[in-house]
Amino acid sequence: MKLSKWNYKKHEYEEFDSHAVNPSMYEADLDKVKDCANCGKSFKFGDMYTSRVIHNEMGLGWGVCSSCYEIESNTEELANEELVNSWKLQDENKNDRS
Ligand SMILES: [Zn+2]
Repeated sequence: MKLSKWNYKKHEYEEFDSHAVNPSMYEADLDKVKDCANCGKSFKFGDMYTSRVIHNEMGLGWGVCSSCYEIESNTEELANEELVNSWKLQDENKNDRS
C-alpha cells in the first residue's frame, strides 16, 4: 500500500510502497498483531512505536516496529546535525565578512 514518509532533507512527504498490508495507528487491544508501516513485518501492537516519519493525511503516525523506529530516530538526529552544521557554516561565513 502507498504511504507517505517525511523526507527530512527535502522537508516534504514522499509516497513510498509499503509492504504493510495491515498497518495500524491505534489499537485498544495491544495484543492485536499489526504490520509495521515501514518494513511490513507483523508485530503485536503493544510492541510497536508511533512512527516519526510515516504519517497519514492528518499527520498521525503509523505503528512501526522497534528496529524501524530506531532507524527513524537516527535519521532524524543525523538530519538535525546536518542542519545545525549548515547553520554554523552560515554563521562562520557571516563572521568572515564582517
Ligand atoms: Zn519495521
